[in-house]
Amino acid sequence: ALPTSLPRSSPNILITGTPGTGKTTTAEMLALAAGLQKVTVGDLVKERSLHDGYHEEMDTYWLNEDKVVDEMEGMMAGGGMCVDFHTCGFFPERWFDLVVVLRADTKNVYDRLEARRYRPNKIAENVECEIMQVVLDEAYESYRPEVVLELRSDSVDDMEANVERIAAFVEQFRASHAN
Ligand code: ADP
Ligand code: MN
Repeated sequence: ALPTSLPRSSPNILITGTPGTGKTTTAEMLALAAGLQKVTVGDLVKERSLHDGYHEEMDTYWLNEDKVVDEMEGMMAGGGMCVDFHTCGFFPERWFDLVVVLRADTKNVYDRLEARRYRPNKIAENVECEIMQVVLDEAYESYRPEVVLELRSDSVDDMEANVERIAAFVEQFRASHAN
């Protein structure tokens, strides 16, 4: 079915990518730079129990996708949201005007997750996810290609350039959707 876009004067942006690629940092900078409201889905899942329990071995929660979508629907309706999550295929396609997939060198993903004291099996899983470009493939399977934007996030310079580029998209969207 064709995606039916909601009328909105400010875009909804999804920042996705493997853990450690810089989503949360980028989303925070972007929210400030572009005047968007940030939604850190991982925090929302924990705070509002949008999961089906804790997965001990992987040190993660079993995501309840239906609960997450139900909880977020109202937030997304008005536009102007910057959503940060490490998976992207279960969100309704119509929610997003731009899907940014952050990518980083394997070594950077490893180092960043180690610094965060992730368990070795969780680091290995995420490094493999980045090597296999799982999130990028998921984005292309779930959204129209013109909506998907792959960006490198290896350095602070990369991050600043990415924020600038996405903020420019936001401004352009607002200019062309103003009444
Ligand atoms: P994610 O939300 O994707 O897991 P974070 O934004 O939490 O990633 O970033 C993880 C760590 O890596 C943070 O300490 C952050 O400062 C650092 N980091 C992320 N992206 C970059 C980058 N492009 N350049 C330098 N450091 C980065
Ligand atoms: Mn994060």
